[in-house]
Amino acid sequence: MKYQRPKGTADILPSDAQKWAAIENRAREVFKKYRYQEMRTPMFESFDVFSRTSGETSDIVTKEMYDFYDKGERHITLRPEGTAGIVRAYVENKLYGPEVPKPFKTFYMGPMFRYERPQSGRLRQFHQIGVEAFGADSAALDVEVISLAMALLNSVGLHSLKLSLNTLGDNDSRQKYRQALIDFLEPHEAELSEDSKERLHKNPLRVLDSKDANDQKIVADAPSILDYLTPEAFKHFELVKRYLDALHIPYEIDSNMVRGLDYYNHTIFEVMSDSKAFGGKWTTICAGGRYNGLVEQLGGPETPGVGFGLGVERLLLVLDAEGIELNEQHDLDVYVVGIGEQADVEALKLVQSLRQQGFSAERDYLNKKPKGQFKAASKANAAYTLTIGQEELEQQKANLKNMRDGHQESVALPKIYANFDQARAILDEKEN
Ligand code: ATP
Ligand code: MG
Repeated sequence: MKYQRPKGTADILPSDAQKWAAIENRAREVFKKYRYQEMRTPMFESFDVFSRTSGETSDIVTKEMYDFYDKGERHITLRPEGTAGIVRAYVENKLYGPEVPKPFKTFYMGPMFRYERPQSGRLRQFHQIGVEAFGADSAALDVEVISLAMALLNSVGLHSLKLSLNTLGDNDSRQKYRQALIDFLEPHEAELSEDSKERLHKNPLRVLDSKDANDQKIVADAPSILDYLTPEAFKHFELVKRYLDALHIPYEIDSNMVRGLDYYNHTIFEVMSDSKAFGGKWTTICAGGRYNGLVEQLGGPETPGVGFGLGVERLLLVLDAEGIELNEQHDLDVYVVGIGEQADVEALKLVQSLRQQGFSAERDYLNKKPKGQFKAASKANAAYTLTIGQEELEQQKANLKNMRDGHQESVALPKIYANFDQARAILDEKEN
């Protein structure tokens, strides 16, 4: 084949696009209830927006950036994640101002780009649905964001998921923990993977997130951040747990969990699935946490924040594996069958009128014989057909047929143009 899509990308064909639309529609309904409003930021940003925030030693910055210099010699990156761009826009548009209600709650949906080794559930262009809430420190907001993630997943029919929870504490907690971790890891330095060796002194928390099997074995015995929390950080985490309990949202504490991005502190969480879509291996669909300090890092005033990002492709893999159908495609209301050349313009006018009256309507454009048109109608699952031939035209009538029960009747065209709903109701009532 001559032209192929770039490695790690996917074409979303109409049959799949329906599922995408269904997920996005459900998400929008949930966001409305939680009062999160949409933001759309550019698909590319200055390289610095991500390098400053994701962390120098993160996989994203060291290996996965789609970056380039544009014709004006600007260092540009296709966004690898949503949060940094939203924060950049929040600061640039001064959404922290007094006229914007706090917390400022927003959501986004769209493609993200990471130069990864493509495999199932790991693409170079993938899509996230995410939320961010700025301007409140309250543990209740952490829990709102977590409950929102769960509600979103429940709304598409997923219930058997695991919520993993941890805290990274505040700066003081982290400094102390960092040293403890270095002390623990140094004796194992020689056995660590190259990446982890590199990170051991620069950012030892990263080592906990290593995907290398041997690294994972070593860090299984690492000290726990939970033993290094300051009283404030401890209290925040206790509140988060208490509020989750109050909402009956089950969770598991995973004290070795860190996130792939450096900007998190306090609460972090992942929603995981062990669906057969991932061969039964626990896989993260949705991840997020608190990132107090990120707004300042991008030049804004001191503003706490919390949010999550959910991978749509991974969600779809689970839905497919669990046999959950999300079909937003509405069946066709009316197929207009036109017989003969004269009927052509009438068929055109009929579908136009039906659509304007709020029905979905379809007709033939391929000069199909009546038989072929009826076939097309049943293939499209049409609820009704309207047939017009020479005779019907002369009498200004059409044959209306209910495809579900086969009942039919001749109906005056002006009636159909005036009120198809009524015409159809009369046919259906008569038969009952
Ligand atoms: P992983 O550990 O799997 O690489 P991550 O920590 O890099 O994930 P995040 O940056 O937290 O992932 O992104 C949040 C979610 O976005 C992930 O849980 C996943 O569902 C999705 N995601 C991340 N990277 C990809 C990708 N390359 N392809 C498809 N989905 C992805
Ligand atoms: Mg990753």
